[in-house]
Amino acid sequence: MKGFSTNSMHNFKEQRNNKPHILPIYTGSSFVFDNLDDSIDVFTKKKPGHVYSRYGNPTIQTVEQQLAGLEVLGSDLSAMALMTSSGMSAIHVLLSALLKSGESMISQKQLYGGTTELFNKVMVGQGVETHYVSELCPDNLDQIYKTHPNIKALYLETPSNPTLNCINISECVSWAHSKGIYTVLDNTFCTSYIQQPLLLGIDFSIYSTTKYINGHGNSIAGAIIGKDEGLMKDVIWTQLKLSGGTCNPFDAWLTHNGLKTLELRMQRHSANALKLAQFLLDLPQVNLVNYPGLPSHSSHAVAKTQMNNGFGGMLSFEVKGGTDAVRKIVKQLKIATYAPTLGDVDTLIMHPATSSHLNISKDDQLAEGVTEGLIRVSVGIENIEDLISDFGQAIQS
Ligand SMILES: *Cc1c(COP(=O)(O)O)cnc(C)c1O
Repeated sequence: MKGFSTNSMHNFKEQRNNKPHILPIYTGSSFVFDNLDDSIDVFTKKKPGHVYSRYGNPTIQTVEQQLAGLEVLGSDLSAMALMTSSGMSAIHVLLSALLKSGESMISQKQLYGGTTELFNKVMVGQGVETHYVSELCPDNLDQIYKTHPNIKALYLETPSNPTLNCINISECVSWAHSKGIYTVLDNTFCTSYIQQPLLLGIDFSIYSTTKYINGHGNSIAGAIIGKDEGLMKDVIWTQLKLSGGTCNPFDAWLTHNGLKTLELRMQRHSANALKLAQFLLDLPQVNLVNYPGLPSHSSHAVAKTQMNNGFGGMLSFEVKGGTDAVRKIVKQLKIATYAPTLGDVDTLIMHPATSSHLNISKDDQLAEGVTEGLIRVSVGIENIEDLISDFGQAIQS
């Protein structure tokens, strides 16, 4: 090779002798075959191999295996995970793969705002309608199923945003399985450290890894985890590959970094949230505190049966004085930041009435417990004494 460009493109050799300690980021969009027969074997699935990163990538697949393993840890179940470009993409890819036009699903009224919008604006356009039930108990589910036998999936989120209401997972699973309906659970608030939906009979766990699993507010990604390897490898992988909602190697790698400290972070999030909830409960300016770990919370009994290793880092509380009082508190808080995300190492707050729930009618807001004085807190892993004094001074001033 004499030419400059031929040399600058081809004349290099990877200088790697021994294995790096940390998972490498493979940015390549495609993979090389040694010869034609090698390629034929991989394309016909006779031999495992990488083809093109939208189909699968070593960095992403490593993290997928890690996520699947944690999801069923401590049981003899096996699971498979697929990482997606975001939590929303995980939800959309999975439901598009499971439901055809003319079929419908059941869900709860309290859902992540983006999920409700996806169901009402996008899934409806695909011919898939969602029936919302205020209280997911077998009687209410039976009633809807009687008039809508085309229901093919039950979609759950527990604890739910922003009042941390918990749904009895096992009860919903028994009902759905008696009807041959798929069950899907968004486990973003808990992570598999606290709640293991597949062990409770759920067919598919959904994650926005953007939140607790990554934990550092620097990545957007998601995951679909399922027990039925056939469905995962065939129908769901095909949907993901062809709709292109694949994760990218850098976000998968950031997620991998997050996983290393997930247990430590979740333990601290839970311990801090419980202490902050107990502190807020005693303040005369606070009407109520929603935290599944508080015996006074309406979902405490259910939460205890399905949340292990703590009750997570999310809570909400209602102050007297509505939006004006909230405005002053937001201004006074020194440590907690006002930002529309959750699950980061630092403490974050949000006012649902003027943000996530802004486009919902006042009546519906109130029915879901979203009052003007409600503040949602993603309790971080800072020193708890500092957090308590920050919330104390902001609320008392
Ligand atoms: C953030 C979030 C999502 C959406 O995830 P993205 O990664 O932002 O797409 C879905 N469900 C819950 C519970 C969330 O908090």
